[in-house]
Amino acid sequence: MIDISTIVKSINKETTIETELTLTSFESRLGDYPILKKQPISLHISNVENAAVHITGTVDIDIAIPCSRCLEEVPTNMHFDIDKTLKITDGALVDEEMEETDYLIGFELDVDKLVYAEILVNWPMRVLCKDDCKGICKVCGMNLNKGTCSCDSFVPDPRMAAFQDIFNKFKEV
Ligand SMILES: [Zn+2]
Ligand SMILES: [Zn+2]
Repeated sequence: MIDISTIVKSINKETTIETELTLTSFESRLGDYPILKKQPISLHISNVENAAVHITGTVDIDIAIPCSRCLEEVPTNMHFDIDKTLKITDGALVDEEMEETDYLIGFELDVDKLVYAEILVNWPMRVLCKDDCKGICKVCGMNLNKGTCSCDSFVPDPRMAAFQDIFNKFKEV
């Protein structure tokens, strides 16, 4: 938690704060993703003409995200900038971009929660352990990058299956 009340109350005051994330994993509705590595964050916080507080910084973390195809954990680097402008309205801080500002309690900035919200925004659409990941067998769940299983992976085309039915009936006659 960083107290930014002096910044909010002093025109054009600015400061740079070195801080560490205490977050050790990214917990979301989709699962719990361990944070493997994290760099200290240097946050630059400034009062802009008593109208707004501007917060900038760079986040550099490695998160273990399962491969979209085989579900093996892939250390995934996330590197993004934080660039937030909070309006000073009636002596309070307002984030006009986000509905929920749980990272801010009064003039206390919760860096973990701020970064959490940004991780969510920057979450990769798809993570692959390698471009040609073979995925897992739909029958036995084996990771096909590590070998082949003996399952019958032939998935009949439904249209072909219809023909097959007709063919089988024809044979029965
Ligand atoms: Zn994979
Ligand atoms: Zn299999």
